[in-house]
Parts: sequence; C-alpha cells; structure tokens
Amino acid sequence: MKYDVIVIGAGPAGLLSALSVKNKKVLVLEKNKEPGRKLLISGLGQCNYTNSMDIEDFLKMYGRNGRFLKAALYNFTNIDTMNFFSENGVESFIREDGKVFPASMKSSEVLNALVNCLRKMGVEILYDEGANKATYDELNKMYLVKTNKSSYASTNLIIATGGKSYPHTGSTGDGYKLAEQLGHTIVEPKEALVPVYTVNYKFKELAGISFEDIKVSLWRNNRKSEEFNGDFLFTHTGISGPVILNNSRYIEEGDVLKINFTSFKNSEEFKKHFDNLILSSGKLSIKTVLKQMDMPKRFTEKIVEMAGIDENKLCSILEKAERKNLCGLLSAHEFKIERLGGFNTAMVTAGGVSTREISSKTMESKIRPGMYFAGEVVDYDGDTGGFNIQAAFSTGKLAADSINKKPANCCQSL
Ligand SMILES: Cc1cc2nc3c(=O)[nH]c(=O)nc-3n(C[C@H](O)[C@H](O)[C@H](O)COP(=O)(O)OP(=O)(O)OC[C@H]3O[C@@H](n4cnc5c(N)ncnc54)[C@H](O)[C@@H]3O)c2cc1C
Repeated sequence: MKYDVIVIGAGPAGLLSALSVKNKKVLVLEKNKEPGRKLLISGLGQCNYTNSMDIEDFLKMYGRNGRFLKAALYNFTNIDTMNFFSENGVESFIREDGKVFPASMKSSEVLNALVNCLRKMGVEILYDEGANKATYDELNKMYLVKTNKSSYASTNLIIATGGKSYPHTGSTGDGYKLAEQLGHTIVEPKEALVPVYTVNYKFKELAGISFEDIKVSLWRNNRKSEEFNGDFLFTHTGISGPVILNNSRYIEEGDVLKINFTSFKNSEEFKKHFDNLILSSGKLSIKTVLKQMDMPKRFTEKIVEMAGIDENKLCSILEKAERKNLCGLLSAHEFKIERLGGFNTAMVTAGGVSTREISSKTMESKIRPGMYFAGEVVDYDGDTGGFNIQAAFSTGKLAADSINKKPANCCQSL
C-alpha cells in the first residue's frame, strides 16, 4: 500500500492539506470513526474559522511564535479561507468584532465542505486507523506508518495530529511521539486558552461582570515578567475574558496577576488621583465617591467590603492605610494562581514540534526531507478569534503547496 502522500489526522490542518495536494495518490489516516471532531465543537458549534483583520496583524496573535507562521498565513490568508468556503457553498458571516463564521453558524457545514471537496478529489480516508509508529526506510526512501490495523508507505508524510487539549476529540499528543520517532524535538506542551483559578477566589457572586481593555501584569518570584491589555471577565469559578485566556500560555501555578481595574496607566497615577479625590470629598461617604468612578457598582461595593471599611464612612475620617488599601485593591489587585484548567479544558496546546526544526517557508522538516507538519501539533498557539483554525488551514495548505512544487519525479527519487 504505497502512496505519494500520507496525511495523519483529519482535522482542519490535515483535511485542507490533503485536498490541496495535486495529482498525487493521497491517503488520510484518522484514528476516530469520523473526521474533524474538534472542528465540530469549535466556537460553541458555530466554528469561528478565521478573522477579518488585516493579515499582517495576524502575526501578533500567536504569542512569541507569530513570525514562524508568516509565510503560511501569507500563502493562504483569511481572505483565501473565505473564498475557499464560498467556492464550496459556505458563505461567511463577519461579526462586528471581526470573528468570521459560516453564515449558517453551523460548524457541520464547514466540515462537510472540506470532506465533500476531499471526496471530489478522490482522496482516500481511512477511519479508525490510529497511527502509532512512523519510521523512514532509507533503502526505499519511504516513510512507513503503522496503525492499529495495518501498515502504509509513502514518499511524503504530513503529520497533522493536533495538540493534546480536549483529548476526547482525538488529539492526544500522538503527533509528538511520531515526530520524536523521526528525530524531532518537542517543546514541552502546555495548556493555553485555558481557564485560570486563583487562590481564595472572592468574586463568585460577581460572575458576568466584565471590564474593557484593562491592564494585567504577570509576576513570578516577585518580578514582573509580562504585561497584557484586554477585556476581562469574572466567572463563578475564576477570572477569564480574552486578556486572561489569550495570555494563559504564559501563566503558571504560583504566579501572581496584578490587575488594574481603573482607567489609569498604573497604580502610581491612580494613587495621585484617588488621594486628591478623597481629600477633596471630605463630607462625602466612600460609597458616594466610588460611585463616581467608571466601574460597576457591585464591584466597588465588593472592594469596600474586602477592605473591611464601612461604606458610609466619610472620606474626611478615612485613614491613610485604608486609602492605600483601597487604592491597591482597585489598581493593583493581586490574584495568586492556584492552577490552570488542564488539557481537558484548554482550547489549544502551546508547545509541540519545535519550529527550529521546520522550515517556515515550506512546513517541511529540516531533519527529514519529505516529512511535513501542519496545524496545532507545531509549537504555535493563537489567541481566541479564529486564529487557530486559520493557522491550521494555512500551515496545511503550505505543506501541500510545497509538495506540489516538488519535481514530478520526486515521489520516486527522494
Ligand atoms: C472547545 C474548543 C473550541 C474552539 N474554538 C475555536 C474557534 O472557534 N476558532 C478557532 O480558530 N479555534 C478554535 N479552537 C481551536 C481549534 O479547534 C484547533 O486549533 C484546530 O482544530 C487544530 O486543528 P488541527 O487540524 O491541527 O488539529 P485537530 O483539530 O485536533 O485534528 C487532529 C486530528 O488528528 C487525529 N489524530 C490524532 N492522533 C492521531 C493518530 N495517531 N492517528 C490518526 N489520527 C490522529 C485526531 O483524531 C483529529 O481528528 C477550539 C478548540 C476547542 C477545544
């Protein structure tokens, strides 16, 4: 059973790469009984498959590894994604915030378009075939892939097995083992886009209250290591919202997040303003003064309660230490990280096959010619907003285009 290309994994990366390979005998191996399980649950079943922002701005949406994706994203852009789906009967709906969905808001439509396209191209997909071993036969210049049922050989191999988050969808980190078997280095996988739980969380009853574009700083061993901006949300169990989720890739157990809930640049600037406000509002209660600030009432009430101050206390008799405490709770509120949600709740996996050993221009292994990587198995992870599925499509397409560009006889003469 010899093929020109074997693609391992029928998620968005594997499907798009398989249908983009031209004039070659392609086999897709999928360990589940059906394709694209994760794609189906993406975006709460609505599938936010890309974003309408300018493609050059995409590079900032993948943490530190955005530049690695440049060639892939420019080779198959967000516009190309929308055009591809339009040509295959799926119109796009661009939401106000830039997120792009199928107009039907049904992820099944997206998956069906990919699978129908694959069928039309005559690509063979085998389900219930989990690849558990990959080797390279130097003599015959072939990759050999062993599954739970059989063995297959090919001159090109695309590993598109996803990361290790939401493992019940099929992505259980197998790709890392396969890549290691063929000599690749794995950057320690870490959960990302994941809920964060804090020690002694006191904001349960504020669930649903959100803040726009606030500043968060990350402290490790009493040193500030990162600063982020974005929208924030209190939930029943912890802190969330894009600013927390998108930066969870950097957060570890034991870290401290200092959150500035005010619109002031930093705690020092807020302190100057707050001191003046309190000193010039002697006859007003602290409750009345806080009401004038641009923050949800229930939140400021909670802060006064946490500070152990009677909300009717007049500003004239507010002690300096009380003022300082309130200032800290509002502008540098400390949340100690108890734990992250784990791979079962992480939407994506950071880490994976090291980008140092993959050509960003082709997605081909720098160690083994003919072997390619596509999608989340690679060490990149995107923010929320359609960036992960777009990256899966773009890396899958680039891998396929690179195989297409190889000389016609490459399959025999690798
Ligand atoms: C709840 C949730 C919501 C999400 N929502 C969005 C969203 O709205 N927008 C967005 O951009 N991203 C979203 N994501 C992330 C996005 O779904 C993934 O980044 C994307 O699916 C990755 O694509 P992939 O093809 O690399 O991997 P996957 O989609 O994980 O596909 C990998 C495939 O490989 C198969 N496989 C694994 N091991 C083997 C093996 N050994 N042999 C054969 N087959 C194997 C798996 O069964 C699976 O079918 C979401 C993720 C989750 C969990």
